[in-house]
Amino acid sequence: MPELPEVEVTRLGLAAQLVGRPVSGMAVRTPTLRYPLPPELGSTLSGRRLSTIARRGKYLLFEFDDGHLLIHLGMTGSLQLVAPDSPPRKHDHVDIAFGAKVLRFHDPRRFGALLWIAGDPAEHPLLAHLGLEPLSHGFSADALATALAGRRTAVKPAIMDASIVVGVGNIYASESLHRAGIDPRTPAGRISRQRLARLVPAIKATLRAAIRAGGSSVRDYVGSDGRVGNFQLRHRVYGRADEPCRTCGAIIRMLRQGNRSTYYCPRCQH
Ligand SMILES: [Zn+2]
Repeated sequence: MPELPEVEVTRLGLAAQLVGRPVSGMAVRTPTLRYPLPPELGSTLSGRRLSTIARRGKYLLFEFDDGHLLIHLGMTGSLQLVAPDSPPRKHDHVDIAFGAKVLRFHDPRRFGALLWIAGDPAEHPLLAHLGLEPLSHGFSADALATALAGRRTAVKPAIMDASIVVGVGNIYASESLHRAGIDPRTPAGRISRQRLARLVPAIKATLRAAIRAGGSSVRDYVGSDGRVGNFQLRHRVYGRADEPCRTCGAIIRMLRQGNRSTYYCPRCQH
């Protein structure tokens, strides 16, 4: 599943190529993905100039002068830029042409979404309930303290809850808690302000490191020759049960929280 870093890498790559260009056409090969595509989307977009590409959680927001095209990659979606004469492959469902550059949406499992939002995207039902944006200035120790106040759930599932903070997937949650020295089982509402002031930059640093590494998940880092790439090798704790902590040498442990694997160092995290 594409995680926040992949979506951010996609956003940066597409924005550099497409911002300022008008939409010159659209081809829909599959009318229903997670939701039916708006039938008038092609005529809505035609001639409109892309002013910016924003992101909220894992949603991309292509901003035009009077509305936004929302794109979500779902479980298996991806976006790429192709030449106008590039023949579509299987699962290439939608093309949006920006002159000589065509944005192509590919999604084998079809859980992705393309929607037009005429009003304020922050009020759209898919976005309105989303929590703090971890790479924004608004994601601070104060804001996280407010969001976690009174919560008895463990901090690891709490920071993975998109209504609290968006885009902290399972790998990033374990890695961030190790960086911050916090036991993943600690009740979320009981973490001191001092520790939250370590957790916030730890989450930002973990996500930024993933963005720098190309934003790929572990699966995507297995190259065509089957070798595992660098990002997994650099994990502090994730996937490293029974191996020594790179910080203190203690043995990394694994436990299950909410049916997800959590990795932590019993000496660094308490
Ligand atoms: Zn350690």
